[in-house]
Amino acid sequence: MSSNIGNFINALKKDLKESQFIRLRSFEVKDPRDRLLNKSEICIKPENTKEVSKILKIAHKFLIPIIPLGGSTGLVGGQIAHEKDQVILSLEKLDQIKFFKKSNLLEVQSGAILSSIKNLALNNGRLFPLSLASEGSCQIGGNLATNAGGLNVIKYGNVRDLCLGLEAVLPNGKILSTMKSLKKNNMGFDLKNLLIGSEGTLGVITSAILKTFPIPKNPVSIFFSVKDLEDIVFVFKKISDLFQDRILAFELIKNTGIDFIKEAGFSINNPFTNNTDWMVLMEIELNIGTISLKEILEQTLYDCILKNKIVEVFFANTLNQRNEFWKIRELIPAANRRKGSICSNDISVPLEIIPEFITKLDRTILSFSKEILVNCFGHVGDGNLHYNIFPSTENSRMDLETNRLQLFDIVNDLVNKYSGSISAEHGIGRLKVNELNKFEDPGKLYMMKLIKSVVDPKNLLNPGVIFKF
Ligand SMILES: Cc1cc2nc3c(=O)[nH]c(=O)nc-3n(C[C@H](O)[C@H](O)[C@H](O)COP(=O)(O)OP(=O)(O)OC[C@H]3O[C@@H](n4cnc5c(N)ncnc54)[C@H](O)[C@@H]3O)c2cc1C
Repeated sequence: MSSNIGNFINALKKDLKESQFIRLRSFEVKDPRDRLLNKSEICIKPENTKEVSKILKIAHKFLIPIIPLGGSTGLVGGQIAHEKDQVILSLEKLDQIKFFKKSNLLEVQSGAILSSIKNLALNNGRLFPLSLASEGSCQIGGNLATNAGGLNVIKYGNVRDLCLGLEAVLPNGKILSTMKSLKKNNMGFDLKNLLIGSEGTLGVITSAILKTFPIPKNPVSIFFSVKDLEDIVFVFKKISDLFQDRILAFELIKNTGIDFIKEAGFSINNPFTNNTDWMVLMEIELNIGTISLKEILEQTLYDCILKNKIVEVFFANTLNQRNEFWKIRELIPAANRRKGSICSNDISVPLEIIPEFITKLDRTILSFSKEILVNCFGHVGDGNLHYNIFPSTENSRMDLETNRLQLFDIVNDLVNKYSGSISAEHGIGRLKVNELNKFEDPGKLYMMKLIKSVVDPKNLLNPGVIFKF
């Protein structure tokens, strides 16, 4: 431990208990993709906002870099300390959640686990719609810091759209609060939305006020397959023209993903009998009070079949069937991990050009190496694709690993050509800093750096994340 960290800890011992200082073993802060290793040796666990403030104030005095930690499910390495002299600040003890019946709002502390927040809302007959496969371990503070997306963005937006108020501690220990449950509030700058998505580089989020929604009545899950990618855009347009914000999810699944699930030994009930490359799993809320729109939906899908835009379609008629369908979508990340990707891309492009984009990218990637498999899946209704690249045989893995940066370049260059985003929902973290600098608008980068240098002039909060100074 460096003498600076020693002095910092000694100064904090007046206010914190011995048990709040944890000596870290490397497995306690994990990169879900097992590529990055946490190098910090000390973790502090504050129990309230005042303690967070105290820690940051003293860190500011002793020049200690602080890495905020939520559930450690982040996929771009923002929560992983890359230097030994950095201190991890775990928010896990700030885990209170309150539901207010009169306003249907939630007040949460940042360390609350997403699934616990969702369960409390459900127990009160309401929905908190943020849905991620990591919801059993990610924390709302991490979700807000990364502006997480997930399955239901198409209807409810990112977590930014679900948050009315925020409390955070700035790098010098000052507490900033916008904890008001107002829809309209133009009292100066919108600092809540500056902190959301700042990945722990501008402040440590400590509390938030969140919206909840009515629980959708009898949402229906529909699984369909198509011959060509263009057909997905056609069907999406037909459905969204009629059902607009009744679409809860519209998820792309590739046959390769289903092969990976089977290879990994998971058991699934794949309903399709015809082999096609692409499938979509969508969920739609069909009831308005006692009126059901199911017939209109059935007719629309039938028209799509007649026009050869859909090959096969299945409605989940029971909860069990619905779960079977969603199990397939939810197993894809786990199956990908078992297979072991060479490079994973979280990208977005405008929905209408997705067929052209994927076709072109597949062609370029395969001309780079024939020994590649692509599993492209994701929240296609939002234009968000997870374009993950794997070796077709284990023999080609080493060779592709040495060339993985070139593979990233191929993907990102094309995303940029199509005016897309190289980070749709996971953030920049430590892994995409160069790409951000290469592809983002210079004026925006200039202003981001200006803000960071004023809010955190000593570059102590999550150094190396988003910014390269
Ligand atoms: C299986 C799986 C599925 C996933 N699916 C999705 C998905 O569909 N959509 C999606 O958007 N993401 C997804 N993710 C990524 C991840 O779950 C999200 O980024 C999540 O929001 C991170 O939350 P966390 O609490 O784990 O944060 P961490 O991983 O601990 O931290 C993430 C970043 O936030 C910062 N941070 C954490 N807490 C705070 C705080 N209180 N204040 C300030 N900064 C903080 C950290 O320093 C770091 O930079 C998935 C991950 C996995 C493993």
